[in-house]
Amino acid sequence: MSADFETKMRGPEAYKVAHETLDVMERHAVWPTPLNFELWSHFVADPTGELALELNRLILSGEPMTETVSEELAAAYLPKARLNEQIRDAGDQLSKELAAVSTAIKEAQKSNETYGQTLASAGKGLTDAKDATQIKAMVDSLSTATRRVQKENKSLEKRLAESTGEVQRLREHLEQVRRDATTDGLTNLANRKAFDDELARACADADEFGTPLTLAVLDIDHFKNFNDTWGHQTGDQVIRYVASVIGRLGCTPRFSARYGGEEFAMIFPGEDATIVERCLEEIREEVASRMLKRRSTNEDLGTVTISSGLATRREGETGVCVMERADAALYTSKRSGRNRVTNAEAVPVAA
Ligand code: GH3
Ligand code: MG
Ligand code: MG
Repeated sequence: MSADFETKMRGPEAYKVAHETLDVMERHAVWPTPLNFELWSHFVADPTGELALELNRLILSGEPMTETVSEELAAAYLPKARLNEQIRDAGDQLSKELAAVSTAIKEAQKSNETYGQTLASAGKGLTDAKDATQIKAMVDSLSTATRRVQKENKSLEKRLAESTGEVQRLREHLEQVRRDATTDGLTNLANRKAFDDELARACADADEFGTPLTLAVLDIDHFKNFNDTWGHQTGDQVIRYVASVIGRLGCTPRFSARYGGEEFAMIFPGEDATIVERCLEEIREEVASRMLKRRSTNEDLGTVTISSGLATRREGETGVCVMERADAALYTSKRSGRNRVTNAEAVPVAA
């Protein structure tokens, strides 16, 4: 979306798009904050894009456009644009660096060639030299030329060393940008965007190699009560604690993400339900058995529990469909008393 969008916002239609964006926001009772403007200008400039489709869905559902909704949309759809920008900047710097190095190398080549010519003509001059004075003058000029070329080679070496350092720094920066864009800040698990990408990839792999794939969604029980009682900050600590258990426990190589507020999702490539169910049980037991304490005051917070649902992918099924079934299984866990694991296969299909 970003390339076309960027062009549009700097082209002849830019102000028309901007005015229309404000009109649309007003019509849908969206506050004109900078973030909302960014989101809704995509809606106007790129009406068939992913973000516009999601906004359309929200409009139709009648859900109010709260700050939380905007932030979730931004986290899901905007980082890519920001990421592209940062990658482009780093790319520009890298090309500049390479151009400078290549100029330095060309200059060094040129002065080495000149030096070669100086040596060749000196060889001839020495043969033809008539007396010691002439020879001395020749040797003097040769040693001057040698010193010059040595100095130039030294400075080229220095330039190359600097450039290697700069390229290394850019690589680390890019790596950091990539990590930030795919990581959830609170828990250090993958974020939702990274999860969606990984899920699509895992489904493609499962099709290609004919391997099974199981998804799990986990959600903290009655978390609103917990927050209301102990406050948001303590709530955040609990989210981190649950994330750490999810990251630590479990068996096979898998992918864990914070999918939303107090909700997590896991991909188990190559696994059917058996191992996944065991893994979710382990996580559930570990969380439920831990007496939580507030860090700052050491107060007992009691325990929290989590409910989860899992679904094994059917042949050819999209990731979104498997997620829906895992979600339905989670809902069954919630309805039947929470603090439990439900396999989607055990959930009766709704009429
Ligand atoms: P259920 O057992 O049905 O899941 O009940 P619940 O209260 O956990 O579910 P509900 O969806 O009603 O509320 C989720 C609450 O999670 C709302 C909000 O207070 C809290 N929450 C969401 N994201 C965060 C977050 O990032 N930090 C904190 N501290 N709380 C959050
Ligand atoms: Mg919950
Ligand atoms: Mg929830």
